[in-house]
Amino acid sequence: MRAVSLVGSRGGFSIPKAVRQTLDIAPGDPVEIYVEGEAIILQKREPVCVFCGQNDGGKMMTVKDNTVCQACCREARKEFR
Ligand SMILES: [Zn+2]
Repeated sequence: MRAVSLVGSRGGFSIPKAVRQTLDIAPGDPVEIYVEGEAIILQKREPVCVFCGQNDGGKMMTVKDNTVCQACCREARKEFR
């Protein structure tokens, strides 16, 4: 899939709807931008746990705008027993 997007005066641009739908990118999702040779790569970034820095592919939950994995959530629950 190829799309064209214009860069604004402040360096911003839109990710075309078709691309967002294909990669399931929603408002607020983090994306990583890096350069490889002459290309700018824009990659959807999977959320990582604020405690362990991992994304094990399991269900992640959001607590006060922070992403937490199930393992760390279970560990935190034990601490409060
Ligand atoms: Zn974790």
